[in-house]
Amino acid sequence: LVQACRQRGVLISEHLAAHAFNLRGNQIESVATSAGELQAGSYCITSGAWTGQLLKQLSVPNGILPVRGQMILYRCPERLLQHIVNEGTRYLVPRNDGRLLVGSCEEEVGFDKSTTAEMLTELTTLAESLVPQLRSATVERSWAGLRPGSFDGFPYLGPIPGLEHAFVAAGHFRSGLHLSTGTAVTVGQLIRGLEPAINLDAFRVGRG
Ligand SMILES: Cc1cc2nc3c(=O)[nH]c(=O)nc-3n(C[C@H](O)[C@H](O)[C@H](O)COP(=O)(O)OP(=O)(O)OC[C@H]3O[C@@H](n4cnc5c(N)ncnc54)[C@H](O)[C@@H]3O)c2cc1C
Repeated sequence: LVQACRQRGVLISEHLAAHAFNLRGNQIESVATSAGELQAGSYCITSGAWTGQLLKQLSVPNGILPVRGQMILYRCPERLLQHIVNEGTRYLVPRNDGRLLVGSCEEEVGFDKSTTAEMLTELTTLAESLVPQLRSATVERSWAGLRPGSFDGFPYLGPIPGLEHAFVAAGHFRSGLHLSTGTAVTVGQLIRGLEPAINLDAFRVGRG
């Protein structure tokens, strides 16, 4: 995707943080970033669980909150499952190379991306009870990520009220990967001033 974008002339600036907005009337004039001031014809805030912090600066009420999920990756000599196994909010996802992913949980612990021994034990206990061969497999990696949750379970997708050429696409919680293409198409339509192909009422920015 990155390559395809670059081939079409998209400039991608990585590893820089947006700190503040400089406003003039109902326009964002520029964004203060760790790499200096940046200007654009349109702005779209897509900073996941951290979006609330930026929207607060624009006095836009929002209910985006970080929800931590922890994961474990097993390395197995062969593929042990042929299908994804769901068990409540937990799941086991086999990969073609034999690795097996085990997740996850929903924890409201602020912006803390660390794993905990308790949750990793819960996940390994569940996984090894469902697939006993995992007891002799190696845990290759464990990590945690912050999902962008929202107070009503819906993402925020649309124009920022009171500002021109400014949008939000955030708060997709557990489905941000699945919904990424639809979100990208919708944001593309909004930025080009087209009528979005889907009704965005439920996703209105500023609804709280
Ligand atoms: C354990 C786990 C498992 C998941 N499994 C699935 C799944 O199977 N399917 C699925 O669809 N979804 C899944 N999700 C959810 C999915 O990862 C999220 O919904 C998705 O990543 C949200 O995308 P996003 O771009 O809005 O936010 P993010 O992916 O969080 O990206 C936001 C980015 O903005 C950056 N940022 C934050 N603040 C600033 C700032 N001030 N300036 C510049 N950059 C900033 C962050 O560093 C980050 O890189 C899972 C999440 C977790 C944690």
